[in-house]
Amino acid sequence: MRSDISKRINVKEVGPRDGLQNEKIILPSDEKIQWINALSNTGLSYIEITSFVHPDWIPPLSDAQDVAAGIERHPEVTYAALVPNQRGLERALMAGIDEASIFMSASESHNRKNINKTIEETFPVLQEVVSTAKSEGKTVRAYLSTVFGCPYEGPVALEKVLNICDRLFTMGVDELSLGDTIGIANPLQVDEVLTKLLPRFKDGKIALHFHNTRGMALANVWSALQHGVTTFDASLGGLGGCPYAKGASGNLATDDLVFMLEEMGLDTGIDENKLRTAADFIEERLGKPLPSHQRQLQKLNQGGARFAK
Ligand code: MG
Repeated sequence: MRSDISKRINVKEVGPRDGLQNEKIILPSDEKIQWINALSNTGLSYIEITSFVHPDWIPPLSDAQDVAAGIERHPEVTYAALVPNQRGLERALMAGIDEASIFMSASESHNRKNINKTIEETFPVLQEVVSTAKSEGKTVRAYLSTVFGCPYEGPVALEKVLNICDRLFTMGVDELSLGDTIGIANPLQVDEVLTKLLPRFKDGKIALHFHNTRGMALANVWSALQHGVTTFDASLGGLGGCPYAKGASGNLATDDLVFMLEEMGLDTGIDENKLRTAADFIEERLGKPLPSHQRQLQKLNQGGARFAK
């Protein structure tokens, strides 16, 4: 094992946004609020609570203002929200979010499908959001999708990824989350991308957003850990299926990630029992089992089992 693996790992919970936006069932605002409150009690230091995109785009998250206004704020938790443009940011600022998350894709066709703009047309829109958010004293995180492969174009050139990362950091984003949107990345590819990318952005914070569509997410986390990456996005229970394949898993599950990290002796600061309570809550509200391994084991009454060390 390499010695530069950090002992402290930040797990960023994206379930209330990235999970719920991909679910068919629309939860009432008060249930979302209760869930986020339960997540705030687990020791998580970061929760992406909703999205301020136009309500017509993502109907399950059209109550962003109510959710942001209704949650209990823990001082040690950063409450972030996705914002697509200046108008979304204005709503998010009024709702008192701590951090704004902007997003774009590394591949032209995914960017166009997702935000209806070319990559070049996207930069000025994001620049305006970043400048305003920063002037309001907020931090900004950027999601870059399709870094490891695009559903329409296949492989994405690393040079293209690096150029976009350059532009985003130059814009002033505080953290960049690299997304494996279709869950196609493999550990060697992660190693190759990070070997080129990390030295170039020594002063920038890099996070990874893996999807478990093909069961490779935790292997990819291991690959990134060996590069000293300390921040990973995940969704409790693996909430939020893959939008491209019915029944396939999407987001890496927070509970599976935390289990692996803690088993490895790394510190997430997260209480797994409280995480389980939060997962029980959302599973019951959605009325369906969540796909994480931890949830599956829980069904077999083995959820808490660990081998003695
Ligand atoms: Mg995701």
